[in-house]
Amino acid sequence: MRLTTTRLGCAHSVFFCAKCNQPLLDATLARLAMELFRREGADAWYTHSAGELASAGTRCPKCDGAELRKETDILDVWFDSGSSHYAVLGRRPDVPWPSDIYLEGGDQYRGWFHSSLLVAMITHRAAPYRTVLTHGWVLDAPGPRDVQVTGNVVEPQEVIKTHGAEILRLW
Ligand SMILES: [Zn+2]
Repeated sequence: MRLTTTRLGCAHSVFFCAKCNQPLLDATLARLAMELFRREGADAWYTHSAGELASAGTRCPKCDGAELRKETDILDVWFDSGSSHYAVLGRRPDVPWPSDIYLEGGDQYRGWFHSSLLVAMITHRAAPYRTVLTHGWVLDAPGPRDVQVTGNVVEPQEVIKTHGAEILRLW
């Protein structure tokens, strides 16, 4: 079976025709990439040429060109997190698919909740969670949310030590 994909959304090709830019992806090419990653890790994609990575005799279905170039775009990070349910849920009897709950910040409606829903609708035709629970953020005095990246974070443990966990929850 030969699949060709567009570069839209999360559909990624493994190779492109160097001559006409036709995306190429089929089960053999995908399997070769999977085996390479398993053997050498994902960086192997950058240390081998397209000719070394593709199966011998791979030709462009559009122009019959034999020279390929590798896909070098990174896979969208949201696809990684959005497919985590597939790796975690349903693998053990005590961790069924779907999850009872996904818990994250409100920004994940456009992030993890959304990407998980997209992936699960494709793979399972259902959401990977029964419900989502979102939390807000503590804001610092000028207004931006309190996050480690910007260094304005107040460690919850410090608040709990002096004021208790209930005060932190109320805050
Ligand atoms: Zn071509």
